Amino acid sequence: MRVYADNAATTPLSARALEVMDRCLREVYGNPSSLHAVGQRAADALLEARRVVARCLGCVPAEVVFTSGGTEANNQALVSAALGARRAGKTHLVATAFEHHAVLNTLRRLEGQGFEVTLVPVGADGVLEVESVERALRPDTALVSVMYANNEVGTVQPLAQIGTLCRAHDVLFHTDAVQAAGHLPIDLHAQGVDLLSLSGHKFGGPKGAGALCARRGVVLTSLLVGGPQERGRRAGTENLPAIAAMAAALEESCAHMDEDARYVSALRDRLVRALGAVPHSRLNGDPVRRLPGNVSFTFEGVDSERLIMALDARGVCASAGSACGAGSPEASHVLLAMGLPQELAYSTVRLSLSPNNTAEEVDYLCAIVPQVVSELRRDSPAWREVSAGARDPLIP
Ligand SMILES: *Cc1c(COP(=O)(O)O)cnc(C)c1O
Repeated sequence: MRVYADNAATTPLSARALEVMDRCLREVYGNPSSLHAVGQRAADALLEARRVVARCLGCVPAEVVFTSGGTEANNQALVSAALGARRAGKTHLVATAFEHHAVLNTLRRLEGQGFEVTLVPVGADGVLEVESVERALRPDTALVSVMYANNEVGTVQPLAQIGTLCRAHDVLFHTDAVQAAGHLPIDLHAQGVDLLSLSGHKFGGPKGAGALCARRGVVLTSLLVGGPQERGRRAGTENLPAIAAMAAALEESCAHMDEDARYVSALRDRLVRALGAVPHSRLNGDPVRRLPGNVSFTFEGVDSERLIMALDARGVCASAGSACGAGSPEASHVLLAMGLPQELAYSTVRLSLSPNNTAEEVDYLCAIVPQVVSELRRDSPAWREVSAGARDPLIP
């Protein structure tokens, strides 16, 4: 059996998205900036995609800027907010310690350009306390960036409360909603968000298309220098087939959000129960305030990379932490930020489910993962020490 359980890394293209993309590639080849009929047909399709995305996010079409994905949207959000604030003399930026690298490394670059960054710690449950954001605020704070849902441990952050806090302190609020879009309700204005990033390939759309939503009045700086596309906020001819397919996938995901969440979270909870029966193992992150499909589990004494390879040999696609961390020898900054000891951070696997997964597939996961864990433990020197009583386990 083959089970794709790495939907937080990327999702397969939905049938509807593929159909839209195919039709667009064949028939809507015009440049949306051209004045003639073929160009105007592309412009119409682009506007329709913008309307769909806006409707799904509780904003208006003019507030949606199409980008090449989540990374670009995060870069542009942070750079725009920082440059805008510097003109007003504000140079302090706040984010959580467990943001995606597209946020953390952009902040690092801004630090090199004279900005000061405070990373707020997260709780052991992977959920941010609003008070800890409040404590980090200063009179010169320009921006707070908090992801809606974490990509490694799936925990969901109290977005609306942070939005309210930011508004009260006249600070811009950006959220990396890449893991949340299409899976959790989003309402830009009701949640008090000024800037929101999303990416098509995390909800059944194609790779290479995303969006940055910027509330009216928030000035965006184009990262690319060129033509006046996207009202001067993103130069370059729009990738219409991917954008239209992303909009179709988002519309589809949002239309089925509640039933999908019920279905996927039931699968998730069954998997969590089965894995929880493995001795000296533990679920990472709050069990309830988490994405419907995320299962992040630590198995003491098991090297996560070996676990991923052993699962792959049995047809299971899983991930150690995030896809972006694969091949990197560094322990997950997300797990370390939640206070996991380094050794346990290296013993963590992420299984991320989607509505495409079946009950039979989850049965297989419930059986195969504990089996592979015991096999690997038999070969693990660290585990032998624990089982021989030479040292106490880190997970009781
Ligand atoms: C995948 C992901 C990104 C990056 O999006 P791309 O479209 O792949 O560039 C950013 N943030 C989070 C939380 C993600 O999961």
